Amino acid sequence: MNKIYNFSAGPSMLPVEVLKSAQKELCNWNGMGISIMEISHKSNIFINIVKETEHNLRTLLNIPKNYKVLFCHGGARGQFAALPLNLFQNNEIVDYIISGYWSESAAQEAIKYCIVNKINIRQQKLNYLSMKDMDHWSLTPNAKYIHYCPNETIDGIAIHTLPNFPNNKIVLADYSSVILSAPLDISKFGVIYAGSQKNIGPAGITLVIIREDLIGITKRSILSILNYSILTKHNSMYNTPSTFALYLSGMVFKWLKKQGGLQKIAKRNQKKANLLYNIIDNSKLYINQINPINRSIMNVTFQIIKPKLNIKFIKLAEKQGLFFLQGHKESGGLRASIYNAMPLDGVQKLVNFMINFEENNK
Ligand SMILES: *Cc1c(COP(=O)(O)O)cnc(C)c1O
Repeated sequence: MNKIYNFSAGPSMLPVEVLKSAQKELCNWNGMGISIMEISHKSNIFINIVKETEHNLRTLLNIPKNYKVLFCHGGARGQFAALPLNLFQNNEIVDYIISGYWSESAAQEAIKYCIVNKINIRQQKLNYLSMKDMDHWSLTPNAKYIHYCPNETIDGIAIHTLPNFPNNKIVLADYSSVILSAPLDISKFGVIYAGSQKNIGPAGITLVIIREDLIGITKRSILSILNYSILTKHNSMYNTPSTFALYLSGMVFKWLKKQGGLQKIAKRNQKKANLLYNIIDNSKLYINQINPINRSIMNVTFQIIKPKLNIKFIKLAEKQGLFFLQGHKESGGLRASIYNAMPLDGVQKLVNFMINFEENNK
């Protein structure tokens, strides 16, 4: 059988080493004779797993001491509501930078709880998509918070360097599809959040990294399981967390450390993305219409010039063990999501397939 490579945008590929270790200890964790899934989240065994998981994450991302790490429920979409509920007042103006589907969805949720100033930074020139220069973003002078999404998973567009926001602004960012792909200066942010199913582990937990002074400021009466203050007090275990997802994410963090940390991972990710963009740019069949400085490293989107060939491409790719290359239904076309767990071999195999496919479909 062909080796399978999974290019799904999420839930996505996990490191095979992690899956194998989990399999090995699935029925008998650490010689206990039972599965980690059957252990109370209140037991010392599990509390220690969470402690170690947080410790490894802090090391990987170099998270400063004045930031709390929370493992929440409800996915990134849950945080679209949790952020405004925990941070904003009803009459407060908050700037939402709109770069694609996910930042727009975050703004739509926030509109229920505050005054949202949407700042659209997408620029379509002919068939070419780019992001407006930061100087042309019309930020609201009296807005305390800015929300943005550095990697738009569906469009494959990214803002790679942290925008030069005015100093007194509190920056909130949806890192769902790009967290842990490269080193990150956490101290520039108020809150970073990410659903687990793309670059952390299996679906089921949502990571929130929050500056301490932003916890407990809400004047609203809010749902306890979304309340950062309550979650902090209970070390993310106010109610039962998704224990298996937490345990597996912890294994992914260990794996990342073993790979040499985020600097190494970032280099490998860049190399993988370059391989794909190079073949697209040198082809007469494939196109990517995003300004090169805004191209995502994690989600490489492309189109076939003859759209009739899309289905054939996907079917033949599948036969070769290259799975889930169909683009999101919002954007069409094709998409290769190449998160941390996608090995270089997988991308190389896709590139070879693309070259052959072009050769045979001139
Ligand atoms: C996938 C994704 C989401 C949605 O995540 P859920 O965990 O399904 O709520 C939000 N934002 C971005 C950038 C994403 O990639």
